[in-house]
Amino acid sequence: MAQFKTFEARVLRSVPLSEFTRHLEFEVEGVSRFGFVPGQWLSVKTTTPEGEEMTRAYSIASPPSENGHFAFCLNRVQDGFMSNYLCSLDEGAKIAFQGPFGDFILRPPLGDSVFIATGTGIAPFRSMLHWLLAEKDRHQGHRFWLLFGARYEQDIYYRKEFERLAAAHANFHFLPSLSRAAAEWKGLRGYVQEHLAELVGPSTGMHAYICGLDKMVKANRELLKNLGWDRTSIRYEKYD
Ligand SMILES: Cc1cc2nc3c(=O)[nH]c(=O)nc-3n(C[C@H](O)[C@H](O)[C@H](O)COP(=O)(O)OP(=O)(O)OC[C@H]3O[C@@H](n4cnc5c(N)ncnc54)[C@H](O)[C@@H]3O)c2cc1C
Repeated sequence: MAQFKTFEARVLRSVPLSEFTRHLEFEVEGVSRFGFVPGQWLSVKTTTPEGEEMTRAYSIASPPSENGHFAFCLNRVQDGFMSNYLCSLDEGAKIAFQGPFGDFILRPPLGDSVFIATGTGIAPFRSMLHWLLAEKDRHQGHRFWLLFGARYEQDIYYRKEFERLAAAHANFHFLPSLSRAAAEWKGLRGYVQEHLAELVGPSTGMHAYICGLDKMVKANRELLKNLGWDRTSIRYEKYD
């Protein structure tokens, strides 16, 4: 079996995104640059107090940088060890990880694309969209939709940031949809898959990227297949 290098990274910042979700920024120790492709994930390793070795995958939630920095978007899973360990880390604490891994990356040739996420499934899309929209040569004027499902308005992670990106780029559309919206909410309501057919229609050469929990990924893949989309136009990453 291949031996992967283990890196150390230090927590630079840990900020809440909602009651159970945090944005963590890290700096990789001992390297000037840490390379990865938007959409990839890292395998975090630790040992529990009972001495059990544990590894879990986390998508990188930031675009590649020149300074060895990366971010995670983390959800505290009830009774889960790793997610609570990471969310409880103080600034300056260190973690061990291997990677980057994974092929949930933008599929060439780039085309108009819809990015569908719920919860922390937003992480790889934050990386991809910041990277894409940073330069015209990268996005080539193609159109991108980010369809993001959450329960309540306060669960729209990175809301201001995506709204700013959408305001700055006419080819990027940010579409949060709330399943338990308050009466005054003026945006989309319901589950993301309830809006997908209207948004994308039958297969037209667009690409779809789906990220989140199994149930939601399945529902969206099923819907796209029923619309006549080809399997190769749909990429997905499941968190459970
Ligand atoms: C490729 C990949 C990328 C991932 N990226 C992220 C990420 O960016 N952010 C993130 O928060 N998580 C991400 N995950 C999920 C993560 O790896 C862990 O599964 C999660 O943090 C739970 O680990 P734990 O040790 O706390 O709990 P565990 O003890 O492993 O899990 C407890 C229970 O919760 C379920 N579960 C697992 N993940 C979730 C979840 N996200 N929400 C609700 N229930 C869950 C499990 O099926 C299990 O039944 C990713 C998973 C994969 C495979």
